[in-house]
Amino acid sequence: MKNIDTEQINHIAKIITGKPTCVVVVPHINPDGDAIGSAIGLATILKNYGHVVQVVVPNDFPSFYNWLINEDVPVINYDRKKAAATNTLEQADCIFCLDFNEISRAGKMKQTILDFNKPKILVDHHPNPKNFCDYMVSEPSYSSTAELVYDVAAQLGLSNHITNQAATALFTGIMTDTGSFSHNISDPNTFKVVSELLNYNIDADTIHANVYHNYSADRMKLLGHCLANKMEIFPEYKTAMISITKKELAEFSFTPGDTEGFVNYPLSISGIIFSVLFIEKDDHIKLSLRSKGSFPANAFSEKHFDGGGHLNAAGGESKLSFDDAIELFKSLLPQYKNQLLDS
Ligand code: 5GP
Ligand code: MN
Repeated sequence: MKNIDTEQINHIAKIITGKPTCVVVVPHINPDGDAIGSAIGLATILKNYGHVVQVVVPNDFPSFYNWLINEDVPVINYDRKKAAATNTLEQADCIFCLDFNEISRAGKMKQTILDFNKPKILVDHHPNPKNFCDYMVSEPSYSSTAELVYDVAAQLGLSNHITNQAATALFTGIMTDTGSFSHNISDPNTFKVVSELLNYNIDADTIHANVYHNYSADRMKLLGHCLANKMEIFPEYKTAMISITKKELAEFSFTPGDTEGFVNYPLSISGIIFSVLFIEKDDHIKLSLRSKGSFPANAFSEKHFDGGGHLNAAGGESKLSFDDAIELFKSLLPQYKNQLLDS
């Protein structure tokens, strides 16, 4: 276990290691494997302790994470069941915000969370946290929020409430946020936590297959289309991009999660260190940005595309038209040339 801010842990211990209460766990909008895995992992541990726990997700998550849901921890979709979700939040004695550190990442739940007048606890691994929670476990050195939840649970004395289901969810978070153990894997603690999770008799092979071998044929065809027809490479900037229109998504029967991972493919081209995926949504363009080495995908996105995230993995958005957003991106590359080539 790494050394997590003891003062914050002591505050959190006072809230959740006493008599059972009602706890709500909230992951970020468009939840990924770490958001879902860490939320369900923590919720399951707290439920096993004796709390009444619900997970409220801001909106839909990819169906290939459905198998993670267990009957002990209800998951409510705020976007689809606003009344039930609001009611749940009103009953809660405290809220955990997991895998995000700025309130805009709560999507439409933003105001409800801000207005919540009982303890709000943040557990997250993104850099530069904003101050919207009462207690914060913000540890950017962690590979994933799921790895952090494991250590937080240990420090709170809750390790004996980790079950196979909780361990499965936490393993999923670590696996997905490290790209199946391919990046952010230099800290021994990550593998220490993984090896301890394996002691809960989890089926790591099946977890991997559930996430990565669970796509539709249409999704594979969309990927093929993107790589063959929609990828542009700018070797002079060590950069590549892929853009997908709404029309293309419809042609390939898009469902949430289908484009997850697409942005990583161009990084496997020799010499490419910056990759950006543009996806046309109903009222904005969604960007996913990935980099290798020191080039800050998060700072680039924060400055130009209203986003943020990690150094090497960030997201953002644009309200420009699809073509204009891409033009803006291309026009920015020359000013980053030195940074891109030096990274
Ligand atoms: P993805 O490209 O998978 O959507 O996101 C990559 C990383 O950036 C994740 O860590 C995610 O939490 C973060 N991220 C994605 N979109 C945004 C955004 O719009 N704003 C901020 N601050 N972070 C984002
Ligand atoms: Mn994460």
